[in-house]
This record gives sequence, structure tokens and C-alpha cells, in this order.
Amino acid sequence: MSFQITVQPSGRQFSCDEGETILNAAVRAGVGLPYGCKNGACSSCKGKLLDGEISHGAHQEKALPVKEEQQGFALFCCATPHSDVTIEVREVAGIGDFPVRKMPTRIAKIDKVADDVVVLSLQLPANERLQFLAGQYIEFMLRDGKRRSYSMANAPHKDEYLTLHIRHMPGGLFTDQVFSTMKERDILRLEGPLGTFFLREDSDKPMVLLASGTGFAPIKALVEQCAHTGSQRPITLYWGGRRPQDLYMMALCEEWANTLPNFKFVPVISNAQPEDQWQGRNGFVHQAVIDDLPDLSAYQVYACGAPIVVESAQRDFVALCKLPADEFYADSFTSEADLAS
Ligand SMILES: Cc1cc2nc3c(=O)[nH]c(=O)nc-3n(C[C@H](O)[C@H](O)[C@H](O)COP(=O)(O)OP(=O)(O)OC[C@H]3O[C@@H](n4cnc5c(N)ncnc54)[C@H](O)[C@@H]3O)c2cc1C
Repeated sequence: MSFQITVQPSGRQFSCDEGETILNAAVRAGVGLPYGCKNGACSSCKGKLLDGEISHGAHQEKALPVKEEQQGFALFCCATPHSDVTIEVREVAGIGDFPVRKMPTRIAKIDKVADDVVVLSLQLPANERLQFLAGQYIEFMLRDGKRRSYSMANAPHKDEYLTLHIRHMPGGLFTDQVFSTMKERDILRLEGPLGTFFLREDSDKPMVLLASGTGFAPIKALVEQCAHTGSQRPITLYWGGRRPQDLYMMALCEEWANTLPNFKFVPVISNAQPEDQWQGRNGFVHQAVIDDLPDLSAYQVYACGAPIVVESAQRDFVALCKLPADEFYADSFTSEADLAS
């Protein structure tokens, strides 16, 4: 059995199988609903239920407070329909251009770039390409139906390998394996491209790029895309970590600052120790943006990484710095730990 989903204001329609989430069906149909974590934690997919019946699977209270649910809001990544349904959501243009595909991939290289970060280079089957937008991510399909998401760190034109930046989360299902038994030539299955975090190339607004930890990966793809197209948009990259070694590609950022027009790099460290001899900015990375750019009304912001950083940035940039709410684009790197909390 399947139900008809109608999206307003566009009027686009797609069908959703019984028991399937509305987001899943939209991705399958190439309809651009906004989304991020796909597991009820980040709230990027929030919209309004105008008509019909749905129920919600497990999600975080902070992503959809009961009060908002009573007002008719819904998280489409964990909402399943029980009738034909009409929803209201701001669609993302361009997302349906590249089909979402499943394919095997071979690990070509594993490069350790910090104690707890590796760059994984993935080779696709011969004659296969994965077309994607700079900033999107793939999911590894693991055993027992489990999945883990990783953002592509390369821009689409640099497609000899797909490169991922993976941080070890001790006790984690996938990254424990990456940092212990995984080796070159291993085969994994992936699905992609996914996500609505990508460079909006139809805008000429100056950009603030905000990365925390491996949130640098999709931000790197954005910068490489701008360099590739010769974009003249002013870019300020803020990259935050606890210790200087967390900014595992600082030299690359400094090279961009020296070679790209209109590019500025601000590294920010929150927990520098005397032995680090850190001379740069201290504190929380999103606070550094607020201090430097109290008026963000003319900007676009792209933020990626730790959920707490992304949430703080979204809240404070809009409330304190006049950033238009719809000019904040983000992927929050949620994990099992966030879902359990
Ligand atoms: C859109 C998106 C893009 C992402 N991109 C990247 C990226 O480019 N790079 C990157 O490094 N990460 C990225 N992530 C995060 C990534 O998907 C994984 O969540 C992360 O790597 C951890 O995976 P894991 O299987 O090792 O750990 P998990 O199994 O998810 O566990 C994570 C941590 O939680 C703990 N934990 C597990 N279960 C529980 C529980 N029930 N209660 C309490 N604690 C628990 C574990 O011990 C571990 O420390 C992204 C996430 C999203 C949503």
C-alpha cells in the first residue's frame, strides 16, 4: 500500500510506501526536501503537516518539542504517513539533478592526518562516477541495516577518488573498525549523494564558513569548488578545535589564504595548553564569528561539525547578528551518542 504526498507551495507529488518515511520517499523520487542527519536529531527536515495523518518514529525532543508537534510541525525524516498527506516545506532546488545510487567502493588509501583523524580515499568501480554537489555526503551501508554518514571532502570535479575525513569516536561501531582492522583494498557499500548542505552558487553574498573538527571536510569541498569556478565571493573560514592539532589541514588553509582572492582564514582553539605555544585566537569558534562580524545580515553561513557548535551558531547568528534564518546552511555531525542523550 502507498500514500500520495503533496508538497506545498510547489504542488509536487510523490508516493510513499506504507511504513516508509516521507523523507526517504522524497529522496527516492528526487524531490528536494531539506534534511541533514536523517535520524531525528538535527531538525533540518522540519516542516508543517497541512492535511492527513502521520506518526513519528524515535526522535529527539529538542529537534521537535511536543509543543511544536501539537502546532502541526513534523520531522519528515522520521514521519510515516497513514493516509494521503499534504505538507508545507521550503524545497531545495537542484537536489534531484543527481540520482542517489548504491555502489561498492574500494578503499584506495588510508592516510592518518592526526592522532584521531584519517583521510579515507575511495575508488569507485571502473567507469562509475558519483555526481554530487560540493558539500554533500554519502552513507556507508553496514551490517544489520546500520548506516554511517560521511561528507565528501573533495569538490565534484576532483573525482579520481572520493575523499572522507573520519574522526575516531572510541567505542563507535564504524570508526573503531576504521582505526583498527580496516585496510587498503577493503570493499564497502555506499549510498549517495545525500544531503541538502551544498554550495548555493546562484548567490553572490559573502560567505562565512564555520567548521568544527572534521566538519572541515565538506567546507574544504566548498572552498575547492569556489576556487575551481573562479568565484569572486569573499570567503572567511573559521575552523575551530580544542587543540591546534585538531586543525589537521591548517597548512592547506594558509595556502588558500595566500593564493585565493578574497579568502581569509581564522583558526580558533578552545583549550590550548602551554606546550601548544598557540599564538592565535582562543575560545569557541562561533563566538569568534560573532565578535568579528556582529552584522551578518548580508551574509550566507555554511556550518558543519559538532552538533553543539552548529546549534549555537544557528541560534546566535540569527538572534544576535541579524543573519536571515534561511541563509544558514548546515550539516550537524550527529552520532549514536547524540541520539542517546
Ligand atoms: C550528515 C552527516 C555527515 C557526517 N559527516 C562526517 C564526516 O565527514 N566526518 C566524521 O568524522 N563524521 C561525520 N559524521 C558523523 C558520523 O556519521 C558518525 O556518527 C561518527 O563517525 C561516529 O560513528 P561510529 O559508528 O564510529 O560511532 P557510533 O556507533 O555512532 O557511536 C558514537 C559514540 O557514541 C557512543 N555511543 C554509542 N551508542 C551509545 C549509547 N546508546 N549511549 C551513549 N553513547 C553511545 C560510542 O561509544 C561512541 O563514542 C557525519 C554525520 C552526519 C549526520
